[in-house]
Amino acid sequence: MAEPKKKRSQSRKGKHRSHQALSGPTLMLCPSCKSPKASHRVCPTCGMYNGRQAVVITTKKNKKQ
Ligand SMILES: [Zn+2]
Repeated sequence: MAEPKKKRSQSRKGKHRSHQALSGPTLMLCPSCKSPKASHRVCPTCGMYNGRQAVVITTKKNKKQ
């Protein structure tokens, strides 16, 4: 098996890993309810997309009725 020729120092390891951080999802505000949502996705809070009601959001309270 191939082995690394030299030990990678803590400093070099840290420099390498400084670019590995994960970034969170980019969110924008829903134009109708102003809650954060992913762009080009139906709003999970109000179900609106492109100015129309794309999905009817049902909560546990509404399902019982
Ligand atoms: Zn919304």
